[in-house]
Amino acid sequence: MTSDNLGRTSSYLQKEQGYREKALKMYPWICGRCAREFNSKNIRELTVHHRDHNHDNNPADGSNWELLCLYCHDHEHTKFHEHVLYGSTTEKKIAPATHNPFADLKNLLDKK
Ligand SMILES: [Zn+2]
Ligand SMILES: [Zn+2]
Repeated sequence: MTSDNLGRTSSYLQKEQGYREKALKMYPWICGRCAREFNSKNIRELTVHHRDHNHDNNPADGSNWELLCLYCHDHEHTKFHEHVLYGSTTEKKIAPATHNPFADLKNLLDKK
């Protein structure tokens, strides 16, 4: 089995290709956090995030997908890991700003 330099197997990449294509057809090419807009030239920097962080959960209606730019996506995962590791104690640390681009996510997490 072949894998790329991130250790991802070709079957993983194939699967990612599948939902990415669907998500890009379904949603406008805009980052869900910083509202950066994308076009065919830089679309590679727009990634598909899984709202429940389960990459195997790919419902056909796209409800588990969110389009995020590379930077916001990265932040999203850092935040998620903090959340998992430290629970609600990180909430204060994460959301101090008046303009908080991650307010939506906090609401989503609170809803669960
Ligand atoms: Zn972004
Ligand atoms: Zn993600």
